[in-house]
Amino acid sequence: MWYTIGATMGLSIPSVSGFHPSGVMTDGDIEALLLELPEWHTENPPLRSVSYVDEVQQRPSRHRGPLLGQVLGECVIDSDVRVADIRLFRQQPEGNHYPDDLRLCLYHEIAHVVFVRLSAEQQQNWYTLYGRTPVIWNEAGRSPEEHFCDTYARFLTIPRFVDSHFPQESQFMRREVFLQEGV
Ligand SMILES: [Zn+2]
Repeated sequence: MWYTIGATMGLSIPSVSGFHPSGVMTDGDIEALLLELPEWHTENPPLRSVSYVDEVQQRPSRHRGPLLGQVLGECVIDSDVRVADIRLFRQQPEGNHYPDDLRLCLYHEIAHVVFVRLSAEQQQNWYTLYGRTPVIWNEAGRSPEEHFCDTYARFLTIPRFVDSHFPQESQFMRREVFLQEGV
């Protein structure tokens, strides 16, 4: 992929914990996924930790379905440092069936951290794109940021689908988020 192992470069990667009870992924699996992403998506800070909590989490409001993951953000007192902690929950009431469910959820939550790090201009460009998109992901109708996160997660898991159904979003991901050359 694009980056070599963070530890050898002296990077600080987020702490990863608690995934063993998920039954489908280990902490090491998650760390390997983090290391495949561009460094600025996962550097610590701001991304301080990724942990798994083996319980079904209900959404606080009337939204349908359980809460699959969340990002808890925090400003470190007396400094400008912002940190984020990602928590992933059990994906189905009876447990987790597929590693890919957790993987998709992990990417979605990381994308929230990435989104707030985009420049104001990049965010504005995304808002403009969002306004023009006739079809959106099932869950993504909620806001441009959620649409960004769902697109990010699918871009990493089913890129050809994103290319064909969301060409503009796909191009945005390549140019602005993954900084691939030649697009
Ligand atoms: Zn979200």
